[in-house]
Amino acid sequence: MGSPKIAAVRGMNDLLPAQAPLWEAFEAQAVRTLQSYGYAQIRTPILEATALFRRGLGEVTDIVEKEMYSFVDSLNGEALTMRPENTAGVVRAAIEHSLLYEGPSRLWYMGPMFRHERPQRGRYRQFHQVGAEALGLAGPDVDAEQIVMLGRLWRVLGLAGVRLELNTLGQPPERARHRAELIRYLEGQHDRLDEDARRRLHSNPLRILDTKSASMQELVAGAPRLLDYLGEASLTHFEQLQQLLRSAQVDFAVNPRLVRGLDYYNLTVFEWVSDRLGAQGTLCGGGRYDGLIELLGGKPAPACGFSVGIERVIELMRDNAGASARPDCEVYVLHQGGATFEPAMRAAERLRDCGLDVILHAGEASLKAQMKRADASGARYAVIVGEQEAAESVAAVKALRTSDQADEFAQQQTVALDLLAPTLAKLLRPD
Ligand code: ATP
Ligand code: MG
Repeated sequence: MGSPKIAAVRGMNDLLPAQAPLWEAFEAQAVRTLQSYGYAQIRTPILEATALFRRGLGEVTDIVEKEMYSFVDSLNGEALTMRPENTAGVVRAAIEHSLLYEGPSRLWYMGPMFRHERPQRGRYRQFHQVGAEALGLAGPDVDAEQIVMLGRLWRVLGLAGVRLELNTLGQPPERARHRAELIRYLEGQHDRLDEDARRRLHSNPLRILDTKSASMQELVAGAPRLLDYLGEASLTHFEQLQQLLRSAQVDFAVNPRLVRGLDYYNLTVFEWVSDRLGAQGTLCGGGRYDGLIELLGGKPAPACGFSVGIERVIELMRDNAGASARPDCEVYVLHQGGATFEPAMRAAERLRDCGLDVILHAGEASLKAQMKRADASGARYAVIVGEQEAAESVAAVKALRTSDQADEFAQQQTVALDLLAPTLAKLLRPD
């Protein structure tokens, strides 16, 4: 009787080898792009004090109200939360280590986030984000630069049809005046509000405008617009940002109902959206959060950042990628066990010394069976160290791919073990 199987936690995915190359390609391009704009990596812990998110994100947000994995540490009674996002953590770390002491800081992070949501396409309980935070910079130059940087990222990844939506949330006093009018308007429409909206009417009415409920769209469309409550400085910031984007030839649409889910945003907010992802079409959200550093106990400083949902980007990349599986290795080394194993192992080590990716056959199998494995591995060359070869200090080399059928190993050839590594390195690494 076998033991019962234990499955992964619902909404938390394994990344299997077949998908890994796409993730690695994404990660490399993202890091490269961030570095090319002067962003440096920061890694913060997955666990933070629950208070960080309650204060940082706001009590009346989806995340804090119902999505956080929070628990009390049974060993010392601390209230902890698995990070649902990483802006709060990065700002906490920047304050704790005085990163802003000598001037602004451009930081990026990448890693898993945790939200207790209903799992569905594009929405998981453990998911991954790469994000950037420009701390101590007031914009709109850096707001525009982050957006341009994201446009570049989609380009290098080969993603088509990713749209940019833009809005401004103004400053807190402007929002307060708009909020009072908005509440008055929504109270007048009380019968038409859904349950969520009624609950938020007095706590976070701006979020009602962000509703996905179809029945409320008309009501939302008629609501007072924040844009009409903005003062000179906020309007100028928004206008300059748009001007910078136009001059960088980044297309955008102003969406006055774009508010973002978190309390900490002000002025610039933006989202990059794709129509190819179904209901979860937002790839990336970002904007300015000038009040957060002070809210979390730091010296007041402006900031702007964004976060990209990696699973959603990977889904778009997968559409483009086709079925080109990455080979497991470049050279597969076959042997006949016994006295042939040690020379085969030494040969494999020398090939690796030359920078090649090598699988040395493990376990016992006929040369025929090993050749099948070699072929399935995607290797370009098979190196055979059989009994006869080992006795003569040579190896037999055979090209496995039709693309290599023109080269000297289209027919199996023997090569002295001493010359094997440089010979194959020359073929596989011509420059
Ligand atoms: P949504 O409206 O989809 O719930 P959000 O406003 O909660 O998004 P943010 O907190 O802004 O999302 O996170 C930035 C990005 O992270 C999103 O645009 C999305 O691509 C991704 N993301 C957020 N939540 C999830 C999740 N549960 N699973 C997968 N990706 C997610
Ligand atoms: Mg959400």
